[in-house]
Amino acid sequence: MDKETLEQTRLTLRRFVRERLVPLEKQVADDDRVPDDIRRAFAEMGLFGISIPEEYGGLGLDLAEEVELIFEMGWTSPAFRSMFGSNVGIGSQGILIDGTPEQKEKWLPKLASGEVIASFALTEPDAGSDAASLRTRAERQGDHYVINGAKRYITNAPHAGIFTLMARTDQNNKGAGGITAFIVEANSPGLSIGKPDKKMGQRGAHTADVVFDNVKVPAENVIGGREGQGFKTAMKVLDRGRLHIAALCVGAAERLIHESVSYARERKQFGQPIAEFQLVQAMLADSRTEAYAARCMIREAAMRYAAGENVSMEASCCKYYASEMVGRVADRAVQIHGGAGYMQEYAVERFYRDVRLFRLYEGTSQIQQIVIARQMLRQAETGAGG
Ligand SMILES: Cc1cc2nc3c(=O)[nH]c(=O)nc-3n(C[C@H](O)[C@H](O)[C@H](O)COP(=O)(O)OP(=O)(O)OC[C@H]3O[C@@H](n4cnc5c(N)ncnc54)[C@H](O)[C@@H]3O)c2cc1C
Repeated sequence: MDKETLEQTRLTLRRFVRERLVPLEKQVADDDRVPDDIRRAFAEMGLFGISIPEEYGGLGLDLAEEVELIFEMGWTSPAFRSMFGSNVGIGSQGILIDGTPEQKEKWLPKLASGEVIASFALTEPDAGSDAASLRTRAERQGDHYVINGAKRYITNAPHAGIFTLMARTDQNNKGAGGITAFIVEANSPGLSIGKPDKKMGQRGAHTADVVFDNVKVPAENVIGGREGQGFKTAMKVLDRGRLHIAALCVGAAERLIHESVSYARERKQFGQPIAEFQLVQAMLADSRTEAYAARCMIREAAMRYAAGENVSMEASCCKYYASEMVGRVADRAVQIHGGAGYMQEYAVERFYRDVRLFRLYEGTSQIQQIVIARQMLRQAETGAGG
């Protein structure tokens, strides 16, 4: 996308977020539901297809462009972004990065338009951080596979038309090499979705278990057509997803800072606005500094990703720093609001709970630390890196 069109798109989204979505935040949290007209508006704006190439009906943005839009989306409740987030990221990217031409033709236009929602099904009850130990089985029988197992906490599962599913095809290989990625249609006989989970926050976004009981999947639905590549596909998808989530954290931090500054200027104690107190100013300054640092590092890593560099380590640095950063910013925002920050009528109370998730999914903070340190040590061994 040329620079001018991107800037127009960003400004349109910014206005939409602030004028249409922010006033709906409380309703979405109370009803645990994003209204249908918002889904239609997202589809009209092309948001389901941000990352999908134009030839398949998407906006065709590269990651450097995508993060600029996601900074804007972060300003409002994450439940809104979650509606199209899995189509832009973890649900579609496996097909886009590693899929066959036929798989791309068949699914990407439907994902780009929002006609079909895609979910990413990796986590299981006994396989979270250690995702490579997953136990869902896919056994080849003639021209199809039979899938048995259960997935846990799958975002958008209750709304999904397809799942990008990671399952073990080689029972003799208990590690990453035995895993294959599949496209599984949600209406396949034997596939059932659990009740939506009752979460700490992000009401309006839904996760659920997905159970596979002898689900038949055609062999042509193996992503890329080759067994044993699924874990690699999942990791490529997550590198990209981590930068997307990091950008969302920056947007949320900006909103929390905005709420903090507004409140600090209005609230008076000891005869003056609390914004005049240097101890309050210190909290504001720390939040601004950290949000700015995260934005810069994400832009740098996303630009390098878009230029074709491997930024797996940097993506983890960004996700780790930005998700921890927004946790600190949310904590300061509550502190600046005093007792009011503990009350549901203030947005910061909701954001405080909503942003907690960012340190947990798409790899916990500890998993990001492990990824970063492992690559540092690998670089030291080979003499690469600076
Ligand atoms: C709201 C929500 C949405 C989600 N959406 C999806 C989705 O769409 N698709 C999907 O596949 N998954 C999804 N997940 C799952 C998510 O990715 C996992 O919850 C996450 O990876 C952590 O796994 P776990 O919950 O099993 O925690 P565990 O792996 O059990 O971790 C528990 C604790 O142990 C720590 N730990 C684990 N291993 C190590 C280690 N080697 N060294 C140090 N510390 C370690 C962890 O950091 C954590 O603090 C979602 C989760 C939530 C809560």
